Amino acid sequence: SRVPLIAGNWKMNLDHLQAVAFVQKLHWTLKEAKHEDGSVEVAVFPPFTDIRTVQTLLDADMIPFALGGQDLSTKDSGAYTGEVSGAFLKKLDCTYVIIGHSERREYHNETDEVVAAKVQAALKHGLVPVICVGETAADLEEFGASAVPVGQLEKALVGVPADADIVVAYEPVWAIGSGQAATPEQAQDVCAKLRQVIGAALGAEAAERTRVLYGGSVKSGNIASFMREPDVDGALVGGASLLADEFAAIIRFQK
Ligand code: 13P
Repeated sequence: SRVPLIAGNWKMNLDHLQAVAFVQKLHWTLKEAKHEDGSVEVAVFPPFTDIRTVQTLLDADMIPFALGGQDLSTKDSGAYTGEVSGAFLKKLDCTYVIIGHSERREYHNETDEVVAAKVQAALKHGLVPVICVGETAADLEEFGASAVPVGQLEKALVGVPADADIVVAYEPVWAIGSGQAATPEQAQDVCAKLRQVIGAALGAEAAERTRVLYGGSVKSGNIASFMREPDVDGALVGGASLLADEFAAIIRFQK
C-alpha cells in the first residue's frame, strides 16, 4: 500500500544546459513506455541552481515528477551567506529535501544534531525530509550493519510529530558510488530495523505509512531485487539517475 518512491540525487552533477537536455530526454524516454499510473512516484534532486529550470520543464502530463533540494539551512532567512532556506525550496514547488546525506556528514561535518535541526526546518516549511542514514565500512566491521543507522535515525526523529510526512533512506556508505550494492537481504534487514525505529518514535501508523528507501549503487539491473523486499519502498539513486535511459529503466522496474 506504500507507493514506491524512486528518487534521483544528482549531487553536484549536470550543469544548466545538461540539466535541460537530461530532463527532456527523460521525459521522452518515459513517455514512450509509460509506467502504470500511480504505481510509482518519481522525484529528482537537482543542484539548487537548476531547481527552477527543472520545475519549468516538468509537464503536467508526463509521469508526475516531484522535486527536491539536496540540502537546506537550519535557519529560515537572514545573514547566512551561501545557505538556502526551506522556505525558498517550498516556493519552487519542492516536495522533498534530502537531509543528512553521508557526503554532507563527511565533508560538511553534519552531526546528528544538525541533521535533527534540518529535519525540523524541513517540516516547518512544509517539505518532506528524506532522512539519510547509513554505516561506513569501518562501522560495518566494528558494529555490524544496523547499529549506526538505527542510532542516526533515532536522533533525527527526536521532536518529530507522529503525523509528520517523512521518508527514510538507508544508504550504506560503502555502497555509495562503489558499484558494490548491499544485497537485497542486507537492505531488507536494516530497512526493517529502521521501520521499527519509526514505530518506536512515531507509532505503528507512521511505521506502516512511511517509505524506507535503499540507496547505494542501485542500477536497472538490481532495482527489482530490492523492490521485492517487503520493507524496501524505493531507491535513492545517485550515478544511475544521471543517465536518462538507465534512470527510466529503474523507474519502470518490474518486480
Ligand atoms: P550511487 O547510486 O551513485 O551509489 O549514489 C547513491 C547515493 O548516494 C544517492 O544519494
